[in-house]
Amino acid sequence: MADKLYLIKEGEISLKGGNRNLFEKRLRHNIKDKLRPYSSEIERQKGRLYAYISEEAPDELIEKALSTTTGVTGYARAYRAEKDIERIKAKAMEILPGSNFRNEGTFRITVKREDKTFPLNSHEIAVELAVVVASLFPALEVDLDNPDYTLTCEIRGEAYLYTDEDKGEGGLPAGTAGKGMLLLSGGIDSPVAGYMMAKRGMRADAIYFHAYPYTSELALEKVKTLASLIAPYLQGLRLFVVPFTEGQLHIRDNGYEEEATLMFRAAMMRTAEIIAKENGAQAIITGEALSQVASQTIDAMSFTDSMTDLLVIRPLVGMDKEEIIKKARKIGTYETSILPYEDCCVVFSPKHPITRPVKDVSRRHFEELQMDEIIKKAVEETKVYTFDAAGRETENA
Ligand code: ATP
Ligand code: MG
Repeated sequence: MADKLYLIKEGEISLKGGNRNLFEKRLRHNIKDKLRPYSSEIERQKGRLYAYISEEAPDELIEKALSTTTGVTGYARAYRAEKDIERIKAKAMEILPGSNFRNEGTFRITVKREDKTFPLNSHEIAVELAVVVASLFPALEVDLDNPDYTLTCEIRGEAYLYTDEDKGEGGLPAGTAGKGMLLLSGGIDSPVAGYMMAKRGMRADAIYFHAYPYTSELALEKVKTLASLIAPYLQGLRLFVVPFTEGQLHIRDNGYEEEATLMFRAAMMRTAEIIAKENGAQAIITGEALSQVASQTIDAMSFTDSMTDLLVIRPLVGMDKEEIIKKARKIGTYETSILPYEDCCVVFSPKHPITRPVKDVSRRHFEELQMDEIIKKAVEETKVYTFDAAGRETENA
């Protein structure tokens, strides 16, 4: 077996009692899905997962698969050796130079000797391996409590060696908590909102309202890029691009100017609800944060909520911009989000938007706009783009 071996730790999953099998099955499926077309087997042993991945799979692909799969709390490349102390030492000698160990600071050896027939006891094994470390990194000192580097050796069916694990995303495996419909604009916030729900186990498709030519082809390309960047967390997604120029112009020409943004948001909710129901999504997810802009006050959000029966989830509602930006940088969407192409809200934004709409009054104004036909037509003309779990755009079915 020349597979690459990875040790994977799952976090919160272990708390899920009776559902545990379901969560774990989903986690394995999600990882394997991202490693395609390369083959992989993932087995469970002693509270860990061991992934045997085809040696042909590039390291970057594996790294990306494990770092973007929610539910994985940590992972490490592991190496096997025959259960013989000389072989184990030789293997340590071979892998340590390419590990995270550096010749400065402190280290420890952790031994898990599950095979009690192994001739050396844990302490003796640790001493033998410490000698190997010392020969490669003479400046390192031992610190059992708070070491900079750890080399772990497990003696089980075979001997396993691994150094420090990389951190995973944590959270829950996407696909264990239902499906949402993410309103994805070209901004900083909404991609982060989708990512956060993935961490809580949701999957989601996304909707973008495109008002061509008021918003350019480049704005659409930008949203497609954002969709591809969050697709790995969400385990793949479809992007519904709704042509909404007619809707925007209708609101501009027939509504009250200061209510334009609110009316657009109401129309988005109605449209999203239709697309969500047609595609099995149970909630609408947005990137709104309280008081960030005029349409994100309590009153404005109460109004938009009232436009749909579906649960509206706003994962960023209590976060400030700095926190959101930090997450956007971490998931790699920030640089794309700040590209300058205007989104349609900006183009059609009123100069003096109302911040404290009276729900019933604005609802009446929205109904007076009679947008059902426009919305129906927009839904019919919606284009779909599909991104797989590795973030690649695929041919549409
Ligand atoms: P973002 O950074 O996500 O664009 P924002 O701070 O710019 O958010 P708004 O433009 O008011 O705020 O949009 C609030 C939310 O409404 C967005 O986070 C997104 O979920 C949704 N949204 C806005 N414009 C669009 C659009 N053109 N298509 C799809 N969803 C949109
Ligand atoms: Mg925006």
